[in-house]
Amino acid sequence: MCMTVHFPFQNTYATLPANFFARVAPTPVISPRLIKLNRPLAVHLGLDPDVLDSPEGAEILAGKRLPEGADPIAMAYAGHQFGHFVPQLGDGRAILLGEVIDADGVRRDIQLKGSGPTPFSRRGDGRAALGPVLREYVVSEAMAALGIPTTRSLAAVITGESVMRETVLPGAVLTRVASSHIRVGTFQFFAARGDTDGVKQLADHVIARHYPQAAQTDRPYHALLEGVIARQAELVARWLLVGFIHGVMNTDNTSISGETIDYGPCAFMDHYDPATVFSSIDEQGRYAYANQPRIALWNLTRLAECLLPLFSNKQEKAIAEAQSLLGEFPEKFTTAYQAGLRKKIGLFTMLDGDEALVQDLLDAMAKNQADFTLTFRRLGEAAFDPANDTAVRQLFADPTAYDDWAARWRQRTSGEPQTASERRIAMRAVNPAFIPRNHRVEAVIEAAMNRDDFAPFEALLKVLSKPYEDQPPFADYAEPPQPDQRVLQTFCGT
Ligand code: AMP
Ligand code: MG
Ligand code: MG
Repeated sequence: MCMTVHFPFQNTYATLPANFFARVAPTPVISPRLIKLNRPLAVHLGLDPDVLDSPEGAEILAGKRLPEGADPIAMAYAGHQFGHFVPQLGDGRAILLGEVIDADGVRRDIQLKGSGPTPFSRRGDGRAALGPVLREYVVSEAMAALGIPTTRSLAAVITGESVMRETVLPGAVLTRVASSHIRVGTFQFFAARGDTDGVKQLADHVIARHYPQAAQTDRPYHALLEGVIARQAELVARWLLVGFIHGVMNTDNTSISGETIDYGPCAFMDHYDPATVFSSIDEQGRYAYANQPRIALWNLTRLAECLLPLFSNKQEKAIAEAQSLLGEFPEKFTTAYQAGLRKKIGLFTMLDGDEALVQDLLDAMAKNQADFTLTFRRLGEAAFDPANDTAVRQLFADPTAYDDWAARWRQRTSGEPQTASERRIAMRAVNPAFIPRNHRVEAVIEAAMNRDDFAPFEALLKVLSKPYEDQPPFADYAEPPQPDQRVLQTFCGT
């Protein structure tokens, strides 16, 4: 007899008007095998990890069996892809099972990604390959451990079926958890159809769900835009501060809640270069590392356009108000970014000249191919004891570039009352030792695909779960790639 598994689902999105989504069930797969369950996350979501870890659980996580309480839907959305508007995208290979309330009282979407075709699939097969599923699992969980807002990964299963890409690949399903999957592109879907009622109902849903304080203001929709701008400014600053490159910052991949979403050809840079692009399809460098704040503002401008009819029926007035809110983005971003940089070099106070001091370090790093993560991590040790300068210097092609800068830096920090030990502790708390380096992620995928070996995946996840702690047995994971290990391109792969 079939065991029924009940999830404490609520399905508020599914109560929105019928054109917000398509009701569609996952397509069953042959022989699902659970390869990873995020037990602590399951517990946090109020789900029983032992149930998920059972054969029935694997079937649920593969979309072969629907848990009781699910009301599965594919969400409708549009989006600008590389600047070109597509009026209908939607969940082409993802299905929202429902929402649960987590231990913090936060509503979370539980979505299967790769669970079969939907009315939004267009020419796609609705499936996902194992490699990208592992990449998303590793990088999203690493982001969470770094303390950066992100969707999470609850589980990964192999479907037992193949997917056809450039080659035949093993199929997999990722269970993605998000505070919602509503994107800038969701607003665009209704705005592009002239459906102001739809925009309004979506905005009201988003305010209730993500920006409840906006409802208390005189102008809730303005407050909503202001809130999204603030969260995106903060988010992109956080990305830059850890060397993260999203890779596909299309408006359909820009979350309204301010979480990092849609891990495709994303990557962390090794040596610092603001022009870094990994994605094979980003030929113009539209989504290059240093372009990300500008692109975020571009995406937010597209959101603002959708909201104009809710601002005022006088278009000029609405535009002026939207522009004024968008005008706050650069300062919000710069404030968060500069504050983060000051912390990264161990400053407790803010003085004129700090910005130039950090910029000079970044310029020297770029010129000397210094590793972004290691430079800041080791700088914490150098702050503690100048004898540790050697380890920083050797990251620079010309080590004297560091010496010149370090003299100025010590001059600056000597004016602060904190002890060397206090400075070191503060720096270690913001400068990770471990990031999901590209070559490590690729090695994980290679072992899983070619040898059905998930030990490297588990090992990498374990190290990345404590990015700010030294983990002496795993010191290798902190190292940049050797020249022959370098991965210069990432692929959507899907
Ligand atoms: P992305 O580039 O991941 O943001 O995806 C853009 C759009 O393509 C979304 O509407 C996805 O649902 C859709 N999509 C991506 N891969 C597939 C696939 N294998 N089958 C169906 N739709 C897909
Ligand atoms: Mg997407
Ligand atoms: Mg994607």
